[in-house]
Amino acid sequence: MIEYFEKLYTKSANDFYKDVEQNLKNERKMFIITANPETFTYGSNDKIIDEMLLNKKTTLIPDGIGIVKASNMLNYRVKERITGIDLSEHLLKICSENKYKVALLGAKEEVLKSLKEKIKKEYPGIKLIKTANGYIKNKDEFFEKLSNTEVDVCLVALGIPDQELLIYKHLDKFKKGIFVGVGGSFDVMSGTKKRAPKIFQKLNLEWLYRIIKEPKRLKRFYNNNVKFMFKIRKLKRKAK
Ligand code: UDP
Repeated sequence: MIEYFEKLYTKSANDFYKDVEQNLKNERKMFIITANPETFTYGSNDKIIDEMLLNKKTTLIPDGIGIVKASNMLNYRVKERITGIDLSEHLLKICSENKYKVALLGAKEEVLKSLKEKIKKEYPGIKLIKTANGYIKNKDEFFEKLSNTEVDVCLVALGIPDQELLIYKHLDKFKKGIFVGVGGSFDVMSGTKKRAPKIFQKLNLEWLYRIIKEPKRLKRFYNNNVKFMFKIRKLKRKAK
């Protein structure tokens, strides 16, 4: 697991946005993985995910506060969270300003529909070239067809690890493009679900808000985040 931390992006969110913007301009391909304790836990238990996280084609950014805390405990100085939702909104803004081509895959049909309406209104420069909800049967076909386009940004909202595995499987078909797995971001951006109030965000308690709103998340939280922190403590003791 320690190798994942070595690969994490350490600078600020603004620095990262600038890097992504530069890559977009220069048509350099990127596969961004928004890392949470869950992501790293999957990596330790699954060979393909492990390989994907360590592959030089992927960029790992610290999405969850658990990742930021753990990196600092292990002396990898990660500056701050760079969340999938903030990154998604930033990407939409850049895409609108530059008339870039965008593709969206994921979430329920009605969520996607609201998101498309919002994009039309608030990001009018965007060329929305391909969209599909996350419950279509043949998601491979979505990517195969997409690879015949010159997509600039592709956001995939299917949840961890399906979204990453799907992008990883098809990545080599693309010459350029920024690909990101964005979890529940379409639900929030479309206005279907509320993001945690600013105070929760400021106190790094967004995870708590999500559990309060959706108590069924508690088990997932325990299995991934609590166990993860125990593992990090062990790693820390070993490193001493
Ligand atoms: N989802 C999907 N297809 C599926 C399963 C999930 O499109 O087969 C979507 C779901 O509608 C939601 C997102 O994937 O929009 C996952 O959200 P979640 O909040 O679980 O992700 P997190 O941000 O916690 O990783």
